[in-house]
Amino acid sequence: MAALAIRNEQNKTVTISAKLIFYGNHATEELAQAIANEIRDMYHEPKASVSLDEERYEVRIRIDYELVSLAEVVPLSIENTNFRYNFIRLEAQNHVTRSFMGFGLGDNVGHWITTDNLGKSTTATHEFGHALGLDHPARIDFRGLGNPGIMAPRGTIVDASLQWNPLVAAGEYGGTLNPLHRRVQAYEIEAIFKDIVFDDNGYAEIGHLSNVLFSENGNVLNVFF
Ligand SMILES: [Zn+2]
Repeated sequence: MAALAIRNEQNKTVTISAKLIFYGNHATEELAQAIANEIRDMYHEPKASVSLDEERYEVRIRIDYELVSLAEVVPLSIENTNFRYNFIRLEAQNHVTRSFMGFGLGDNVGHWITTDNLGKSTTATHEFGHALGLDHPARIDFRGLGNPGIMAPRGTIVDASLQWNPLVAAGEYGGTLNPLHRRVQAYEIEAIFKDIVFDDNGYAEIGHLSNVLFSENGNVLNVFF
């Protein structure tokens, strides 16, 4: 996902603003709202701030969404130059059996599947993190460190209480991170701002725009005219 960061020097806030443009057979109002709410609430949870030119700015996040038909999304994506716009196909399943974002960290396209319990599972928020340029952490063992960050992947080693099954040994079947216990951490939000540059009007572009669309099962959709 790409996004726009908007810096307000008066009230010392910086807002990450993105719009999710959903299409596909499972693009419903109810699901779209649940996803947008999950992402917004999880990114607000750490009440993060960042240092810009040696002043602290409170980080806010704004997630809008729109549901569009396949006929509508094609011209929208082809013409898109807006870093707020992210094109996400929602389907029941895809050929890699997991939700994914497009081409490299920071891309503005994805194919997400409802079997990942979107809006209730932290998956959408994790994928949004990739879209903001965040990678999986180098650390794979978070024992003794509490909840790992939102970018911790499946298979991460954690304290027993954060495992799928608290009763099994770390690393055994069921002995890895239950993704419900991932939390957006302040250090992850700070990482989003690491390399971004604000223009004179206080805007900074995050990520990049491939504007690629996907087929129902998650292959690149070829659009011919
Ligand atoms: Zn990931």
